[in-house]
Amino acid sequence: MLPYGRQSIDDSDVEAVTAVLRGDWLTTGPAVAAFEAELARWTGGVPCVSVTSGTAALHVAYAAAGVRPGDEVVTTPLTFVATAATAALLGARVVFADVQPDTGNLDSDAAAALTTGRTRVITAVDYAGHPADYDELREVAARAGARLVADAAHSIGAAYKDRPVGALADLTTFSFFPTKTVTTAEGGAVAVADPGLRLRAARFMNHGLVRDPAGQRDPSVGGWHQEVHAFGLNYRLPDVLCALGLSQLRRLARFRARRAELVARYGRLLRGVAGLELPAERAYVSPSWHLYPVRVRDGRRREVYDRMRAAGIGVQVNYLPAYWHPVFEDLGYRRGMCPRAEAYYAEELSLPLFPDLTDAEQDHVIETLTTILGQR
Ligand SMILES: *Cc1c(COP(=O)(O)O)cnc(C)c1O
Repeated sequence: MLPYGRQSIDDSDVEAVTAVLRGDWLTTGPAVAAFEAELARWTGGVPCVSVTSGTAALHVAYAAAGVRPGDEVVTTPLTFVATAATAALLGARVVFADVQPDTGNLDSDAAAALTTGRTRVITAVDYAGHPADYDELREVAARAGARLVADAAHSIGAAYKDRPVGALADLTTFSFFPTKTVTTAEGGAVAVADPGLRLRAARFMNHGLVRDPAGQRDPSVGGWHQEVHAFGLNYRLPDVLCALGLSQLRRLARFRARRAELVARYGRLLRGVAGLELPAERAYVSPSWHLYPVRVRDGRRREVYDRMRAAGIGVQVNYLPAYWHPVFEDLGYRRGMCPRAEAYYAEELSLPLFPDLTDAEQDHVIETLTTILGQR
């Protein structure tokens, strides 16, 4: 089965990992700081804290933003469930605002209409790798007295009005799962400029430990002493995986370029095909395409999905509206809440897109798809 996404691993990645395995550190060692520093070159210099997954990154971002029971987090339903689940786990009520009908990104007017005095965070998702409308969203967050979080699991390397993803929100989260643009097998990161927020993020992902005597209540105990002032977890990304991430980041420009080339080819070769709508792109963004999300018209998405899979092409659907998951249904969330996200989901189909996809493989995807669409 040709997958919809997969990692690109070469000898330099293998060498980077084996070098760490032969060295002195398996977990927190020099590769962690090196990876975080290299990542910050992609976020316009905004410092990054590496963690064990994109989900951990969201959990850390919300904890750093002070999300607690009674708070509300406004976000899009057109995302992987982790964007909402991590806020719910901190006791927040998740408020789903509808998306822009063409990009699938959080609509700033819809978000603004749902903010209240309890809104602690607004979370945008750069769906498919296309940045959300951050100028508008920042304004909505500022008016609500809320933090803006960017779930940039899809969009590492992208830019919005010439500003890089990572520098557009108070806290930005990345995922390094193998289907994403850069991988560490499992991994993630939080980019955060504000030193206070960053300190909270750095503590939460390391048990809440306060190691700097200057920040301790009882600093005179001895050199071994460390304190916990707020509960945290162990979300540390090991040296072995940071070495892989560092090696991968060195090819991020190439990964982005090849993905852009494949997206341009899809656009050229699928334009005008009846029953199909191609992804929208705003003139002021430079996306980092993670998905190639087409819309299949005339109620044929299920049929096209099944027939593509039967033909050995691993198309995917991204995403079930988050509040359709039974866990939200059981909390009283009802279908129909965000009709534009639901309409998007009903038609969405992600076509294979990854750097090692060959032109010939892509031609086969296009041929198979157009043949199915041409038949009834
Ligand atoms: C992949 C993804 C996540 C979760 O990342 P993991 O590394 O798999 O935990 C969160 N949000 C979005 C939008 C994602 O695509």
